[in-house]
Amino acid sequence: MKCPLCGFEYNEEEAIKACVGCPMSKGKCKLQRCPNCGYETPIEPNLIKFIKKLGRKVKNED
Ligand SMILES: [Zn+2]
Repeated sequence: MKCPLCGFEYNEEEAIKACVGCPMSKGKCKLQRCPNCGYETPIEPNLIKFIKKLGRKVKNED
């Protein structure tokens, strides 16, 4: 995933590590935190990821 604020690219593991300091979440809040700038973005539901993948597949087949 890519941070919409600073453009830093990070994976889910890094986002969880960056969020460990949050007392509310215990690593399970519904936000991903950019390890670079600390900006939090909502985690994409799997359904949206799936739809995006489908969209990409259709484009590639064109
Ligand atoms: Zn960032």
